[in-house]
Amino acid sequence: MNQPALPQPLLTCAGQALPYRLVRSPRRRTIGLKIDEQGLTVFAPPNLPGAQLETLIQTRAAWIRTKWTECCQKSALRVVPREGALLPYLGRTVRLSLDSGPTHLEGEVLYLNPGRGDITVALQRWYQAQALPFFLPRVAHYAGQLGVPLPAVALSNARRRWGSCHARGMIRLNWRLLKASLAEMDYVIAHEVAHLRHMNHGPTFRETLQCLYPNHAEAHRTLRERGFLYHAF
Ligand SMILES: [Zn+2]
Repeated sequence: MNQPALPQPLLTCAGQALPYRLVRSPRRRTIGLKIDEQGLTVFAPPNLPGAQLETLIQTRAAWIRTKWTECCQKSALRVVPREGALLPYLGRTVRLSLDSGPTHLEGEVLYLNPGRGDITVALQRWYQAQALPFFLPRVAHYAGQLGVPLPAVALSNARRRWGSCHARGMIRLNWRLLKASLAEMDYVIAHEVAHLRHMNHGPTFRETLQCLYPNHAEAHRTLRERGFLYHAF
């Protein structure tokens, strides 16, 4: 059974209270801490004394504060799709302009006609429609470089993964990669194409990826840092 124990708030971050929640579960043997946009959640065994919890939280206070600050910053950076919003697109930003004409990109302005529907849904549809035609020639490029036939390619809507390669040779690419830079996009594509030869992440896979996309480490790093921005919608 879940029961709140310690009083709120527990910590403050830039003048804001850090929301706190305690979840006791009979299946738990150890204490776990999770920080997300909802605040701090502590998972604990049912009979763990409150004093022990407080001690643990105090010893982890610096970590909690840092994580919470990161969460606050991330949610502040996240784009809300509305008139004038700056949207990530192929490593640059385009401005969203709601319009009653046909949806199209003109220079650095995306004129979007959401009709009577939701702006986010209309925006996602536009990105998805652009994604596959943009990805295919790049998959073909890396498949050609590796000397394998062009695989079947489909879009994915995964919350975390950027791409996957199935044993039967189908590659799935997250449509949100269209928001990433070309370097980040090509890194994911080269990675999945390399899996057409090696269905693991072993040394031969890494050698293949190194040949296909020598700058993979840098692109992997920036994608890990900026990926949350591309997941805003
Ligand atoms: Zn992989």
